[in-house]
Amino acid sequence: MAAHQEKKLAQERKHRTTQNDTQASQVQWGRAWEVDWFSLASILFLLMFAPLIVYYFIMACDQYQCSLTAPVFDLLTGNKGLSDIWNKTPTLTYRAAGIYSLWVAFQVVLYMFIPDFCHKFLPGYVGGVQEGAVTPAGIVNKYEINGLQAWIITHVLWFANANYFHFFSPTIIFDNWIPLLWCANILGYAVSTFAMIKGYCFPTNAKDCKFTGNFFYDYMMGIEFNPRIGRWFDFKLFFNGRPGIVAWTLINLSYAAKQQELYGQVTNSMILVNVLQGIYVLDFFWNEAWYLKTIDICHDHFGWYLGWGDCVWLPYLYTLQGLYLVYHPVQLGTANAVGILMLGLIGYYIFRVTNHQKDLFRRTDGNCRIWGKKPEYIECSYMSVDGTKYYSKLMTSGFWGWARHFNYTGDLMGSLAYCLACGFTHILPYFYIVYMTILLTHRCIRDEHRCFSKYGKDWKHYTAAVPYRLIPGIF
Ligand code: NDP
Repeated sequence: MAAHQEKKLAQERKHRTTQNDTQASQVQWGRAWEVDWFSLASILFLLMFAPLIVYYFIMACDQYQCSLTAPVFDLLTGNKGLSDIWNKTPTLTYRAAGIYSLWVAFQVVLYMFIPDFCHKFLPGYVGGVQEGAVTPAGIVNKYEINGLQAWIITHVLWFANANYFHFFSPTIIFDNWIPLLWCANILGYAVSTFAMIKGYCFPTNAKDCKFTGNFFYDYMMGIEFNPRIGRWFDFKLFFNGRPGIVAWTLINLSYAAKQQELYGQVTNSMILVNVLQGIYVLDFFWNEAWYLKTIDICHDHFGWYLGWGDCVWLPYLYTLQGLYLVYHPVQLGTANAVGILMLGLIGYYIFRVTNHQKDLFRRTDGNCRIWGKKPEYIECSYMSVDGTKYYSKLMTSGFWGWARHFNYTGDLMGSLAYCLACGFTHILPYFYIVYMTILLTHRCIRDEHRCFSKYGKDWKHYTAAVPYRLIPGIF
């Protein structure tokens, strides 16, 4: 039924396109309706290879001391066969399945059953029930923002266990890392498949579903915009933030504990990675309400890309630096350590201030001060599927006057700092900066394409006023 309605809507859209290009471009914002061959090829590539990439990195650390070339060399020279590598790989264990199930269940309890209390005593923190952005169908969803609280409770319990209770070793995550990988994959695939079936059979909001007719594209990029179970269990908010991002800092702590166990000390590079990534994670939870207005929540549908990505890709590949440092404990000289810390902190500052400027500007509808002055902006308009016209503004001052995505530039500087902390002897820890550069450049282009579809000629005025994407004068 929902599929039928959507097809009809799509046909109506096409009809409007032939009537009036400008008008049609304004109502076609949101995820793609038609799949070009390049998108399809990229999606098939990712569906097939992303799980292998994760396995390869983690296996390389487990069996080859984090060398990415040694497994290939072994295979090419016939020193080892694929089956030798596979047979050496730890399998799924009952212990890992138990740990993982408890972990996810605990995060569900924190998310669903403990309303936010942090906003009651933390000045400046926005938590509790908050509204998301207007969806293409014109709906405004409500969210219970309690991620900071979940993060604090989880970490207090972690430290209480490590220092007093000793129910389990703080190295538990590292010690079960590959068996846990299988559990994370099971959850990632299960939730993505469930989301696909739900999109067809019982969507939360049929008007916000998109069917391209291509199974792989729909599976990967999602059908439902904001799938929910009941009123409050929002798939995107839960899987994006927890269990992946809450786990990020715990995983790093587990790596630090492993260094202590193996070498009797924690290196300054491990401390740097823990601190810089810890700031990034805490920032995410402190600003969880703001996160409702970012691309992940505002524009992406929920499919394998978010479901599997949040369960597997994020916790396993975003934490590679800490994992690497367990195998190669790097002790940095003071000048290098200070330089990397500064790069990470300046990157974070740019990332935060740029995001804050946009948030403040949008919340106050431009009635605020950016760098001590009234912000400059371009007025723009767009339409939702029911033809309702909305008005918005695009800021052209502050960091948003320097480049169209200076927040990404700050993010990339921070990402580079994590990698540099690992020294220069292996390429594995540098995967993160390479990946983030591809991700954010692609995201930049994807976002601009969407904004052009949404705002039409107003977007063109904006790009004329702010001509660079990431680095002023260069790109
Ligand atoms: P942005 O926060 O930059 O949001 C882009 C949206 O902001 C646009 O779609 C548009 O939305 C609006 N916008 C664009 N230009 C302007 C302007 N000049 N004035 C006002 N509004 C504007 O992008 P993301 O959501 O991708 O990123 C949020 C943060 O998350 C970034 O700092 C990024 O670095 C980080 N991030 C980190 C990732 C990670 O894996 N570590 C992954 C992805 C993001 P509208 O339709 O409302 O006009």
